[in-house]
Amino acid sequence: MGIINGLEAWHGGSRADGKVGVVNVMGFTARQEQGGCCSGRREGNGNLRYSGLGHGNGGMSMDVEIRGIKKAYFRKKVLTDISFSMEAGSCAAILGSNGSGKSTLLSILAGVRKADGGSFFYRGTDLFRCPGQIPKALGYVPQGDPLMEELNAWDNLRMWYDRETLKRELSEGALKLLGIDDFLKTPVRRMSGGMKKRLSIGCAVVSHPGILLLDEPSAALDPVCKENICMYLDAYRKEGGIVLMATHDAQDLELCDACYILRNGTLHSWEYGGDFHKLAEAL
Ligand code: ADP
Repeated sequence: MGIINGLEAWHGGSRADGKVGVVNVMGFTARQEQGGCCSGRREGNGNLRYSGLGHGNGGMSMDVEIRGIKKAYFRKKVLTDISFSMEAGSCAAILGSNGSGKSTLLSILAGVRKADGGSFFYRGTDLFRCPGQIPKALGYVPQGDPLMEELNAWDNLRMWYDRETLKRELSEGALKLLGIDDFLKTPVRRMSGGMKKRLSIGCAVVSHPGILLLDEPSAALDPVCKENICMYLDAYRKEGGIVLMATHDAQDLELCDACYILRNGTLHSWEYGGDFHKLAEAL
């Protein structure tokens, strides 16, 4: 297990208070049974070591195997056959024109919408058949930031984190890496887009998921905020996490090992190569 800037970002765990908790996968909530999936211990050097739902691939060829996802809204077929795979530590982008079905696909993978068919295997478990596993397996950051506008960052986080875990994550974990400790007392209504996005990601990773789904994470953000989020995603990925995002942002695309264009309900593999004219033509 790797160490990021002297910190160990940990994913795939459970709440530290040992209770049955509510896990936020942004956009919906689900009950999470505690125990069994992650145990942590502090080492002599102060770093946190976790075992359990680590990011090794457990002998499987691919950690994520998605096959034949279909979705229609009434008679309108939006997704006809979505199939792809991802391995631990990889990052993929889904591109496509407005209305091509990117948000529909991500929300289906997050368990917010139901697919009409297909499977989503994560380390051998079909999450569509075992939706109770979804909160432990993935974090979802939808396009609109689902935060409580009247609350500050600390209070939003407290809806998902117990006090001790929150303090630890802010001082040496994922929340520190996201820079959330800089604006804990700021109410959401006074936050910039970048602060809201970082806070939304912070809430989404409460269960230390192995997969992070992000819908346009960089839309309308300034370059500094984008850089901060990209650095976090890169660290998450280097730690073995799997990142899947809908994006058209050049900085995001640079993080990605694979790009797919969603067109006519299916994914087409595509090589970015740094040329935005090529992207417009491909869409
Ligand atoms: P994208 O994220 O690529 O812009 P969406 O997944 O939001 O695309 O939408 C894909 C298509 O599905 C669009 O034509 C949209 O109008 C339609 N759509 C999305 N959500 C619904 C819904 N709840 N009911 C009916 N049609 C929908």
